[in-house]
Amino acid sequence: MARVHPRPADTFLTGKELPEIQQLLGASVPAYRAKQVYEALYRHNITDLAEATALPDALRAEIEAKEGLGRLVIDNRFASSDGTIRYLLKLPLDGRTVETVLMPEETRYTICVSTQVGCPVDCKFCLTAAMGLERNLTAGEIVGQVLVLVREHQLDPQSDKLNLVFMGMGEPLLNLDNVLKAVRILCDRRGVAMAERRIAISTSGIIPKIEELGRAEVRPRLAISLNASSDEQRREIMPITRKYPLKDLIEACRVYPLRTREHLMFEYVLLGGVNDTPADARRVVKLLANLKAKVNLIALNPGPGIPFVTPEPEAVDAFQKIIMKALPCYVRKPRGRDIYAACGQLKRTVEDGLVTIPVT
Ligand code: SAH
Ligand code: SF4
Repeated sequence: MARVHPRPADTFLTGKELPEIQQLLGASVPAYRAKQVYEALYRHNITDLAEATALPDALRAEIEAKEGLGRLVIDNRFASSDGTIRYLLKLPLDGRTVETVLMPEETRYTICVSTQVGCPVDCKFCLTAAMGLERNLTAGEIVGQVLVLVREHQLDPQSDKLNLVFMGMGEPLLNLDNVLKAVRILCDRRGVAMAERRIAISTSGIIPKIEELGRAEVRPRLAISLNASSDEQRREIMPITRKYPLKDLIEACRVYPLRTREHLMFEYVLLGGVNDTPADARRVVKLLANLKAKVNLIALNPGPGIPFVTPEPEAVDAFQKIIMKALPCYVRKPRGRDIYAACGQLKRTVEDGLVTIPVT
């Protein structure tokens, strides 16, 4: 793919923490100026240095020439009949695109962020898997997705009406350093200032990284994609289970350092006739016994080439009822299926007949 930006390395300011910004700007730039740049980037969410009116012209010109802001640009966007909007955002580093989804609900918004271009994990029910891994996203590209949507929809990151989930393209725990850096930036009081508890990270179960996440000072809530009730079944649909078997995964969850009022969220994609029987539900209850857990059921979002079907609604109900006897259990409403924005559907780039919103 052609490079659309001549910079050899990622010097973009978006995605840098304050000390790095100071370092990039150089010792001749006073600390209070570096702080102004930081605030312009993350608090005022500027898209153009001309908006940073507090900064002297010379400094703005220097940043423009040397570092650049590194904002993501809206390439395309698609509106679902349920209000969900799927964005295709272009990365300034190499012109690749990632997908970010905005889901408005009655009283709040959820932004679903990507952490990799593609994904190496190869779950058999997920469209992103078919891409393989193209590359990890930088911290700036992760933060940048949030900044674009916040600005576009005039959302308030500090409000408890905005949630963020790392559930877009990619396996966040295989890009943990960049994801954690992005989280630190998003939660920093001087900048975007989101609350940690409003952010959730979802993983297919990379055990050593779950342990590492548990040690992080600033960390989002944790969701585990369980998706099966036995190792045998999970190996079939999530080959990563060979490396990280269920027993070890559940043990990693058991010792995970939860904070006050925190719980683990287990996601379970129901595949019709595969993992959606009452016997499966009972095994899930057994697996999660003694964990402080909630369960989120997701009926399969179908896709081309995905060799599974959506479960019957009765099977979903029966499954939920069995789990609910032991644990809180919700059924996630499919969002944006008609625009391929729902879980596991990301990376449909050729769309026919989808409703696009003009990008101005
Ligand atoms: N890689 C991470 C996060 C992104 S996937 C993970 O796997 O957890 C986010 C969620 O979408 C996961 O719970 C995953 O199991 C689910 N998912 C993937 N493909 C799906 C599909 N076709 N239908 C419904 N949910 C799906
Ligand atoms: Fe990757 Fe998650 Fe899709 Fe599995 S479900 S292939 S881990 S994005």
